Amino acid sequence: MKRRTFLNSILVGGLMVTKPGIFLSNNKKVSQKNETNALVKVIGTAQDGGIPHAGCYCTNCIKARKNKLYSRLISSLALIDFSENKTFLIDATPDIRKQLDILHNRIKSKKKRFHPDGIFLTHAHIGHYTGLMFFGFEALSTSQLPVYCSSQMHDFLINNGPWNLLVKLNNIKIYILEPEKEFNVSKNISIIPFVVPHRAEYTDTLGFIICGKKRKLLYIPDIQSWEAWKKPINKIIEEVDFALIDGTFFSSDELPHRDLSKIGHPFILSSIKLLANIAKKTKIYFTHLNHSNLSLNPEGKEIEKIKENGFELAVDGMEFFI
Ligand SMILES: [Zn+2]
Ligand SMILES: [Zn+2]
Ligand SMILES: [Zn+2]
Repeated sequence: MKRRTFLNSILVGGLMVTKPGIFLSNNKKVSQKNETNALVKVIGTAQDGGIPHAGCYCTNCIKARKNKLYSRLISSLALIDFSENKTFLIDATPDIRKQLDILHNRIKSKKKRFHPDGIFLTHAHIGHYTGLMFFGFEALSTSQLPVYCSSQMHDFLINNGPWNLLVKLNNIKIYILEPEKEFNVSKNISIIPFVVPHRAEYTDTLGFIICGKKRKLLYIPDIQSWEAWKKPINKIIEEVDFALIDGTFFSSDELPHRDLSKIGHPFILSSIKLLANIAKKTKIYFTHLNHSNLSLNPEGKEIEKIKENGFELAVDGMEFFI
């Protein structure tokens, strides 16, 4: 079968499926109804190492190399305000070259040199900020590109190379976000940052609520556990329309050779138990998926478990009008 025919055959009603209800990673849009001027586009859904993972030849990574539909870029969101033609990124990942192409394409930009109007950073783990290097002297060489982050992240960037060179050469200009305080991003988008518990070797970690004029989306790609957080996750999810949350690992059956309690992410299985009741009201998607994640197998019992409880895996290319 020719590739195009194959792709068409699995595009059903705007969603990519292999059999009813099973998603594959793809770059097709999954638009919500009632479109507004503000859009959140999911431009990556993998853990920091991406899928395929460097040097990994596990079943998921082999599959992802063979068929692009199984590959996933590193977790990131693009925010677009069509009324002002402004774009923003949440996190600057090592996959940012591809992600800028996706964004440039999505807004049909004619710009020969393109960069977003600002970048919001969650924390200083490799999948979330190292893409900043492409705004430096060797690459795009932007001028005062606004970077919004916590004060710890600010200190990390200005005190460590090569990031401090971006500041010194004025490629980026850092603004400190005040936790819990709503920040106006554009005419139709605002963002509420908050601190979540997560391995803090270099910096603290932020999560965000992205607010449009009609809807809100919660984004927490990395968190140690729901129990370690002082805030009631149930209540927070109840107040938003969509939630994209840490789904790094499905269960403790993964990575038998590593002590997962030291890696520090809630298992999807535990989140399902904790959030089952809210999943009936708010659409909850798991993102930041590790290459080992058992729910990546579209035929497996793990993805069935996720879906039968009313949850979904996030997919590269999904769109939420807010
Ligand atoms: Zn991460
Ligand atoms: Zn792998
Ligand atoms: Zn992290």
